[in-house]
Amino acid sequence: MTDCLFCKIVAGDIKADIVHEDEHCIAFKDINPKAATHLLVIPRQHICNLYDIKPEHDHLLTHLIKTIPMIAKAQNLDNGFRTVTNTGEGGGQEVFHLHFHILGGGPLNPL
Ligand code: 5GP
Ligand code: ZN
Repeated sequence: MTDCLFCKIVAGDIKADIVHEDEHCIAFKDINPKAATHLLVIPRQHICNLYDIKPEHDHLLTHLIKTIPMIAKAQNLDNGFRTVTNTGEGGGQEVFHLHFHILGGGPLNPL
């Protein structure tokens, strides 16, 4: 998607502080962190959000869910972390490329 901010980060057209890269996903620091550590994990492939998930994404989703704790560990979030994904405007989504927030490294507000 040419006008998608996160596709541009995947393509390297917009800079990001990348902390993890593999064949299916990348992770980078959120530009406006809401926690001591705030990362975004995104698939390289453009998928809008969870409402856009199709059966062919099963392997990718499994990969993302398994990779999130590895990224958190590498960022020293041994004490734990929060994972959030916002879906649609009603869910507070601002960037319409699927992403999982990783939040931790300090106190978090209770949900
Ligand atoms: P959403 O509200 O869609 O779940 O989260 C989007 C996140 O992307 C926000 O936390 C916001 O701070 C982050 N963000 C927006 N633009 C940029 C950017 O250009 N670079 C980075 N690294 N993060 C961004
Ligand atoms: Zn995209």
